[in-house]
Amino acid sequence: MVDDRPTERTGATSGVTVTLNHTNVYTRWPCLCCGGHTEKDSVLADVLEDGKWTEYVVCPWCLADPDLAGTIRKHAVRCRAQAESLEEIARNLPALPSLGDWGAAQVEADVKFLVEAEGWSHESALADIGARDYTVPYKGPRP
Ligand SMILES: [Zn+2]
Repeated sequence: MVDDRPTERTGATSGVTVTLNHTNVYTRWPCLCCGGHTEKDSVLADVLEDGKWTEYVVCPWCLADPDLAGTIRKHAVRCRAQAESLEEIARNLPALPSLGDWGAAQVEADVKFLVEAEGWSHESALADIGARDYTVPYKGPRP
């Protein structure tokens, strides 16, 4: 049987290493190479830079990509265009809802869900959900 799993590879000058690791965090992880994401896989091709975890992975489609360098270059072009767009947005910030507006909308949506999907009375749902302050985690430093 041929073992076709990728082996650990370190870029000659980039300091980037890719290793296969099991995870118990079943979510879609962003792919460093294509800008896409994994599925909720149990094994990830983790990207390390100078031995440190980056939160990026190489998705299985990129592991199979015969032109991975070309895919990375295309993604880099998209990233540069996105960076220019972000710079433009930063120069001309649109009006944004406040964190309080967002928290109130979150309460409203969750109350609506409990009433419509779970059959709660509006009063019960509001008593349960309305007591929550969804904004608390966002008032501290970013993780
Ligand atoms: Zn990918």
